[in-house]
Amino acid sequence: MRFYEYQAKALFRAAGIPVPEGRLVRTPEEAREAATALGGKVAVKVQIPIGGRGKAGGVRLAPSPEGAEAAARELLAKEIRGYRVDRLLVEEAVPIRQEFYLSLTLDRARQTSVLIASAEGGVDIEELAATRPDRIGRVWIDPLLGLRSFHAADVAAQAGIPSELLGPFVERVLQIGQIQAQHDALLVEINPLALLEDGRLIALDAKLETDDNAAFRHPEWEAEESAAGEHPLERRAREEGLAYVKLSGNVGVIGNGAGLVMTTLDMIQRQGGRPANFLDIGGGAQADVVRRALRLVLDDPDVTAVLINVFGGITRCDEVARGLLQALDGVEVRVPLVVRLAGTREAEGRALLEGTPLEPAATFLEAARLVVQRASEGRGDRP
Ligand code: GDP
Ligand code: MN
Repeated sequence: MRFYEYQAKALFRAAGIPVPEGRLVRTPEEAREAATALGGKVAVKVQIPIGGRGKAGGVRLAPSPEGAEAAARELLAKEIRGYRVDRLLVEEAVPIRQEFYLSLTLDRARQTSVLIASAEGGVDIEELAATRPDRIGRVWIDPLLGLRSFHAADVAAQAGIPSELLGPFVERVLQIGQIQAQHDALLVEINPLALLEDGRLIALDAKLETDDNAAFRHPEWEAEESAAGEHPLERRAREEGLAYVKLSGNVGVIGNGAGLVMTTLDMIQRQGGRPANFLDIGGGAQADVVRRALRLVLDDPDVTAVLINVFGGITRCDEVARGLLQALDGVEVRVPLVVRLAGTREAEGRALLEGTPLEPAATFLEAARLVVQRASEGRGDRP
């Protein structure tokens, strides 16, 4: 489960980590009242279950309650990376001297936790890892030993944390260790961990992702808002009974059978493409299921081409083709569609697609190659 920033901050505060004073609001008027109560000058931050809000325009500094109200009005009308903004965190604006990065997460390859820190916080850690890997400190924690002060001192030295901050820095590290253990966390992240003008080292942002496998011993999670982490397209898919997961790429994928769909994602990646989603329409998929699946994938603004990979065994290819044609009926197909049809009644299926916007591919490999090519061409001009 992924927590919103305001939820994570409440748990961080409970663990002793200093965080700015703040209030959750849902209207511009509430934002103004909150700003008044918080001293006038505030940060207004969209609450969505993903990071990178700063870059996407989701964090505003407002000099006054009126400014906070105006910022809130704008932000509440926004959609940020697919998420409609329905709540904001209004926090006292704090003067920052320096921003650090600190996190504790799993290293699946090494089967241990890894403590990560950098003296260059604020930006995406992925970006920093790509451009300046030497600026990131990493310490792997022996699970039998657990997280200790010397791990914190080690990562601080690697990351170049100023020595006068070592005391509070070690304290923050032990606190995120406590949070990890207490909440069965997969990720505890503070970015930025901010050094303020007054010398305090506080969590200006808070990210917490917990392990769903541990839900049986966390009845308190049920009370938290379950929408966290669910993309609007995922919610719609769930309501429509489709097995769909939103991913970060631009190649839409529809297939039948979880194994086939996962292989399709791998094939696209191998051809240099990036899948936009996982979508399994299941075995024996009827025309109306295919239609709903296609509409869902086409409604993703990230998608620039779609691969429909259906293996006919239980599913009949002519049934799928008919479903696709029905789905196209009345739908504006704004991107290229590549179809790989193989299996029962394959020839009949292909014959039905002739002269339509659906490009057939003879093999799995050819289909993956073709869709990646189409996606990168960014062709949005097909009928
Ligand atoms: P993210 O982009 O989703 O990670 O959102 P963050 O909460 O990390 O905010 C992005 C950036 O906004 C931070 O790195 C800070 O530089 C800035 N920011 C956030 N809150 C405050 C604040 O209270 N005061 C000041 N001066 N800057 C802030
Ligand atoms: Mn952040």
